[in-house]
Amino acid sequence: MTWTVSIIEVGVLPDCRLAAYVPDAPTDVTLDLPCYCWLLRGSGAAVLVDTGPDAEPPEDVGYEVAGDTRAALLRELRAAGVAPHDVTTIVHTHLHQDHVQNDALFARAEVVVQRRELEDALQAEARCRSLSADERAALAAGPYGASQGAGLWYVGTAALVAWLGARLRVVDGEVEILPGITVTPSGGHTTGHQSVLVETADGRACIAGDIVSLAVNAEVIGPMTPDAAAAGAFLERARAARWELIPSHEPALRDHRWYVSAANG
Ligand SMILES: [Zn+2]
Repeated sequence: MTWTVSIIEVGVLPDCRLAAYVPDAPTDVTLDLPCYCWLLRGSGAAVLVDTGPDAEPPEDVGYEVAGDTRAALLRELRAAGVAPHDVTTIVHTHLHQDHVQNDALFARAEVVVQRRELEDALQAEARCRSLSADERAALAAGPYGASQGAGLWYVGTAALVAWLGARLRVVDGEVEILPGITVTPSGGHTTGHQSVLVETADGRACIAGDIVSLAVNAEVIGPMTPDAAAAGAFLERARAARWELIPSHEPALRDHRWYVSAANG
């Protein structure tokens, strides 16, 4: 079975340091990085890969979000003829808050995540909650490498898990979750990170997640991918299989044939 893919931009992470993604980049170069969600449609089904950040997160997790992300996501779904209750499955590449916070819009959807990711996220959140308010604020104000490494971007996972209840579908390893949609562990960015392989009319696409944050990361493994060996092995597999790799925060995706929106435009 093949699926169509729509790339939906929901908001922007302003003033990200390029050096967080590309080794040896000048430390003073910043850029605005889009946050995307991917809508997969086939045989009447609607699946989302990641749901993006909430522009007004309840916790300070160390990054800012520009744009009304929920309005943007709902608007683009409506334009595609998809109501929130039509979304039956959400796949999370990983549980960092900039990829999961709009799950709250989809009260019916089953949410697919790797067991390793879920366990690591809950442990990291518990560690962060044991820090003092000052310690957490200092981490949030620091570079991405520090806040990510400390697990701060996972703060909010326990509440999400409680809200999802029985709708949370925990998988182990490579699993075809629907005909033509396969999740596969890709590590690198987080230990339980997964990428999503989608059969399309154009061949197999790989919604890479943050193992390929920027397009250049398909060739150059950066600081956002601390497990370079895992990332390298996955990228080698992707190259050999000739998957079309879809990055997670690449501005040039706005020119991709599957891109359908401009955030809040
Ligand atoms: Zn991430």
